[in-house]
Amino acid sequence: MIPIAQPIIGEEELKGVMEVLRSGELAAGRYVARFEEGFRSFLGANFAVATSSGTTGLHAALAALGIGPGDEVLTTPFSFIATANSILYVGARPVFVDIDEKTFNLDPGALEETCRLHSGAKALLLVHLYGHPASMTEIMKLARESGLKVVEDCAQAHGAEYRDQRVGTFGDVAVFSFYPTKNMTTGEGGMVTCRDEDVAQRIRSVVNHGQAVRYTHETLGYNFRMTNFQAAIGLEQLKKLPGFNRKRRHNAARLSAGINNGMLETPVELPGCKHVYHQYTVRVKAKGKDPEKREHFVRYLQQRGIGCRVHYPRVIYRQPLYQGLGLTGRCPVAEKAAREVVSLPVHPALTKRDLELIINTVNGYR
Ligand SMILES: *Cc1c(COP(=O)(O)O)cnc(C)c1O
Repeated sequence: MIPIAQPIIGEEELKGVMEVLRSGELAAGRYVARFEEGFRSFLGANFAVATSSGTTGLHAALAALGIGPGDEVLTTPFSFIATANSILYVGARPVFVDIDEKTFNLDPGALEETCRLHSGAKALLLVHLYGHPASMTEIMKLARESGLKVVEDCAQAHGAEYRDQRVGTFGDVAVFSFYPTKNMTTGEGGMVTCRDEDVAQRIRSVVNHGQAVRYTHETLGYNFRMTNFQAAIGLEQLKKLPGFNRKRRHNAARLSAGINNGMLETPVELPGCKHVYHQYTVRVKAKGKDPEKREHFVRYLQQRGIGCRVHYPRVIYRQPLYQGLGLTGRCPVAEKAAREVVSLPVHPALTKRDLELIINTVNGYR
């Protein structure tokens, strides 16, 4: 079976973790500080705070921006559940904005309309889905005109660029995940980056029990800290990230050049965008009366040893949790995408033979 994702861990990471174990400094400490500085400098951000996961990073980001009960936050319904859940964690209300058909990211036209209808909204939480940057020029212009704070969910987009600028440096705050399937990993882990020092201080406080001074707790905070083991892995993975991303882009180019099955639409990379292919996601066009086409394709691939996955089979407002809370949406483009998408393996551990097998198998589907 060719897996849909496969982290690459080398001797360097093992050595780093052993060093931490021998040092006895197991929780947050020097390794975390070095990883924060390394990631900050890689991204070109002003501040970086490591967290225990991308999810806790998103929670901390919204809390640090002062988003709370009664506030509306505009977001996409086509993402991993953690994106919208972070809005619920702070007691705010997600308002779902439809996506663009080609990139699966927020559609600036739909955003403009939602900004008009929800003029009191406090923030925008956008995602650079699959590693393709969202349309940041249009989105930032709309957000500034509407007085929205902007949080970028970069959990799938480490190193992606929009007009030669790294994603994660456009909004007020950005959040990265280092879960094992992501472009780089620390096992579990996350990073929050931001522009302003006072926001950075609030993030630091939220992730560490609301204390700026030890044992003085100004606000309700959490334990969202990263450990030194995770940071030791992250420091090595960060060095390898450019190579991992090059390999992902190379694999994606091979797949797109080889796949010629007329039933499938391969991913796009818009001009001015650098896609980092966290996922290589195709659309299975359900022409006519076969709503099960995508499910057939998934079964066909799995039976032939190609690991594939549907990211994501349901828009977030159709999840039982959201229906139960009475949170709905009207995003037909996202709903259609949820019926048609399938991700194929694109990770950097794929061999030339793996790629050939994927291409031949996909092209053999009828
Ligand atoms: C992975 C992911 C998250 C959550 O990150 P964790 O580290 O798994 O908590 C959030 N948003 C998106 C878009 C993701 O892909």
